[in-house]
Amino acid sequence: MELCIIGSGYVGLVTGACFAEVGHHVICVDNDQRKVDMLRAGKIPIYEPGLEELVHRNVSAKRLRFTTSTQEGVDGSQVIFIAVPTPPQPDGSVDMTYIEKVAREIAAALKPGAYRVVVDKSTVPVKTGDRVQATIQRYNKEAEFDVVSNPEFLREGCAVPDLMKPDRIVFGANSDRAADLMKRVYEPFKAPIFVTDIASAELIKHAANSFLSLKISYINALSAICEASGADVELVADGIGMDKRIGRHFLNAGLGYGGSCFPKDVKAFIAIAEELGVPFHLMKEVERINAAQLERFLRKMRDGLWVLKDKHIAVWGLAFKPDTDDVRNSVAIELINQLVKEGAHVTAYDPKGMEKAREWKLIPDSVKLADSPLEALNGAEALVLATEWKEFANVDLDEVKKKMHTALVFDGRNFFNPKTMKELGFIYYSVGRPPAR
Ligand code: NAD
Repeated sequence: MELCIIGSGYVGLVTGACFAEVGHHVICVDNDQRKVDMLRAGKIPIYEPGLEELVHRNVSAKRLRFTTSTQEGVDGSQVIFIAVPTPPQPDGSVDMTYIEKVAREIAAALKPGAYRVVVDKSTVPVKTGDRVQATIQRYNKEAEFDVVSNPEFLREGCAVPDLMKPDRIVFGANSDRAADLMKRVYEPFKAPIFVTDIASAELIKHAANSFLSLKISYINALSAICEASGADVELVADGIGMDKRIGRHFLNAGLGYGGSCFPKDVKAFIAIAEELGVPFHLMKEVERINAAQLERFLRKMRDGLWVLKDKHIAVWGLAFKPDTDDVRNSVAIELINQLVKEGAHVTAYDPKGMEKAREWKLIPDSVKLADSPLEALNGAEALVLATEWKEFANVDLDEVKKKMHTALVFDGRNFFNPKTMKELGFIYYSVGRPPAR
């Protein structure tokens, strides 16, 4: 099939490459000329394992190409996917200007007699489909099209496998013609397809992300109870996670959730519910617990170091999770900013996130960036593990200790074993776990 993706970021680019991989002809549109130039030159603007090979292979096979022109994308494509940002506004509600603009651009590009399916893949408030439909109609009375909602569930860091082998495909359509075309798009993926009405599909995405955030806040709230009672949150998580009704996923206590999706989607869901007249107090508590978790960790650091001002602190991890260069709304970054605000001297290292953290000015210039995890430790009075990259497991902990001025480790992801750390002579703090006896 001939497909168009508008917005070639973390979702659009990976989706486009995976659609091409299964044999579709895909044109990815982006209004960022620099990004399109890079992609045309064979450079990949984001880090996602396996993406580079996938893009190169499909560009060479002439199944994947890039343009800045929405008209060119819409002209030859049966199905047009919208994958542009839906950032939060200061009040938490979703900024819909990107989606509305793309709807108008699609309207301008649609030609009479050429039926198209316009698919919303961005994460949007319920009822956005109706708005997109009405907008396109208002700007192009002749257009023949249907709107479909097809939320995306990929996880950054494993977006390629998530898209190639999804747990399920969800889409909401109000016409058989559109639903049939969508089934043809996804048929090669051999995944369960769940078809709903448009509003339900839109709600499924916010409900899914909110539930996962809730699970994280639940275990983080438990971690505080574990610390107060001497219990071990990992054992508690294992014990409850063995119950199939609960499951072990998303029950890892840590610094709280961050990233470009959960914080904004939880905020958006709260705002959407409010607007619908059904305030979602439960999710407000989820947010409160999340913020408190970082504050509790900082308190632990203040307890351990007594004073943060003028302390040299190494931070391992900037990305909001491992295997991605995405540093948007990363808790690691929030933590660093807090440490700097309190007068600490921070040196950070991240395998993939340093360039974007600097480019997007998310950390103060005073934060030094090291070339390796060990280099970040020179003279450090404490190490904070903020993102659980596998690379950190290969670092020789004896070397770590030698490099540090004082051997304090604050493990925000329960990455190290408390017993090992004690045996090696570290003063070791983690989340919700008692010190090794
Ligand atoms: P992104 O910022 O990485 O990419 C969006 C792209 O859209 C950018 O390259 C931007 O230049 C482009 N763009 C903006 N306006 C445009 C226009 N008018 N025409 C053409 N291109 C335009 O964003 P993302 O992380 O890919 O997220 C996109 C959407 O998908 C959001 O709604 C997000 O919530 C949702 N989502 C994201 C993830 C994720 O893990 N990142 C997962 C599921 C859903």
